[in-house]
Amino acid sequence: MLIESLSVFPEMFEPVMSTSILGRARAAGLFEFQAHNLRDWTHDRHRTVDDEPYGGGAGMLMKVGPLHEAITNLASDPVLPRPHVVFFTPCGVPFTQHVAERLASYDRLLFVCGRYEGMDERAYELADERLSIGDYVLTGGELAAMVVTDAVVRLIPGVLGDEMSNKDESFATGDAGGLLEYAQYTRPASFNGSEVPSILLSGDHAKVDAWRRRNAIERTCRWRPDLLDQARLTEVERAYANEVLRALRATDDSE
Ligand code: SAH
Repeated sequence: MLIESLSVFPEMFEPVMSTSILGRARAAGLFEFQAHNLRDWTHDRHRTVDDEPYGGGAGMLMKVGPLHEAITNLASDPVLPRPHVVFFTPCGVPFTQHVAERLASYDRLLFVCGRYEGMDERAYELADERLSIGDYVLTGGELAAMVVTDAVVRLIPGVLGDEMSNKDESFATGDAGGLLEYAQYTRPASFNGSEVPSILLSGDHAKVDAWRRRNAIERTCRWRPDLLDQARLTEVERAYANEVLRALRATDDSE
């Protein structure tokens, strides 16, 4: 898989793409990353990428010309497959684990990052999709592109040491069924009077699995009840979730 970014601050990417798991995966050839500088597709002395918005208003907008030239140029590479082009904008579809799983299936992704007040709307005609990483406004799309790259790369087979570690994580659409992950503990078993649940020390794998499943349901009920509608639960689990929700509501009411 080849992931590319197009932005005016290409130097932001290298430290992230060469550190820890991403760095190792890249060194091992599990993905390639290349950051392009949008200014390479400008033709004036100042390498201008922005201009004032028609109709007035605060700030500057990214010009359509350099974006159009850069993207068509990158997309028509004679050797590489055509990239799937993702534009980052707060007006995009919210990025989720589900979207990460879908993006992980492309051979080539091109992440287009805005700056300033955003882009001339006509630039989006080259977008295969628009993504937002959340309901807040960043100063630029580079961090968004790095967030999405990180989430996508860790799904590539071989990137995480343990192939299982993706399976029951929070939001995983596989066996875990879209719940938050269960609570986890490591040594010591007792810390400042706070104990690890004894079942986890029992060595009984069936009991541990059952505890984890219940715990994942409880945590999802408490922190992200919005995930329950889409979660894959058995009838018994669904009934348990409803029971937990009722109990949480009862304690809320009594407070
Ligand atoms: N005026 C725009 C915000 C521009 S922020 C608006 O109100 O919608 C500048 C750039 O940062 C954007 O072009 C986009 O690429 C990036 N950006 C900011 N917030 C983002 C978010 N939540 N998700 C993805 N990209 C974001």
